[in-house]
Amino acid sequence: MRLLAGPILVVVAAALCACGTGLPRHGRFTVVATTTQAADLSRAVAGRYVTVVQLLDPNVDPHEYEPRPSDAKALARADLIVRSGADIDDWLGGVIKSSGTKARVVDLIDSVPTRRRGGSGDVDPHWWQNPRNGERAVAAIRSALAAADPANRAGFASDAARYAARLRRLDRAIAKCVSILPPSRRELVTSHDALGYFADRYGFVVLGSVIPALTSQAQPSAGETAKLVRRIRAAGVKAIFPEASLNPRLASAVARDSGARVGGKLYADTLGPKGSPGQTYIGSLAANARAIVSGLTGDPGACRLRVAA
Ligand SMILES: [Zn+2]
Repeated sequence: MRLLAGPILVVVAAALCACGTGLPRHGRFTVVATTTQAADLSRAVAGRYVTVVQLLDPNVDPHEYEPRPSDAKALARADLIVRSGADIDDWLGGVIKSSGTKARVVDLIDSVPTRRRGGSGDVDPHWWQNPRNGERAVAAIRSALAAADPANRAGFASDAARYAARLRRLDRAIAKCVSILPPSRRELVTSHDALGYFADRYGFVVLGSVIPALTSQAQPSAGETAKLVRRIRAAGVKAIFPEASLNPRLASAVARDSGARVGGKLYADTLGPKGSPGQTYIGSLAANARAIVSGLTGDPGACRLRVAA
């Protein structure tokens, strides 16, 4: 049976193409996703049925990404484009134009309730730090795929449902881990202002960030850094958390001056490389929760959150 499956599928696909069902002429349906998280969520829904091309490599900061000519080529062949949205992949517009693609663009931030940064009023683009938003994004990808590639509609629906159940388990496990911390100890200091959605979901206050902006590309002034150090001291914050993909020098200096320790590195704007705990979306959120709870309690075994990445 296994030997026969290939030729039969080829014949069926060819017949469908001849009927003009909209199946891609170049073979397998192709989703092009911008960020590592958008690509991982796309693979979770559709990886068994379509090709998912990921533009950003792990550990590449999406805020400062310079698109390559190969990105325009990938977009030109896309049947569906999945972007994270807002400031994170703002660079996509220019590459879409130069690629000439007519593929539909799914903007995942449109599927989630957005938060704004206090004071500036800017939309916070880091929605994926709340797994409930991950579930909403998965639903958006599933419905766009079902419309664009109806032949695989049932497969997308069942894989999306299975993955959403895993996200709900992850969300409950993180909430349980965080419950170890009394609400007064749930204070976060990170490299840049990337954990607002996590903070809102699990009852943390973002006390400040080493780079006091929603983008990792801003530079803090000496005055801003001194103010953050005073705030950390006054609050008695035990640990601050650098990001895995950014230079930890400034975070280490702030920790040294404020008396806080440097906690485990967080996966903020990019998933980790293959083999790291943050190589998947689920793995990255679990690793972040472990690092934060362990860092703030001072007990490396405080959060025994285990999930299949
Ligand atoms: Zn960011």
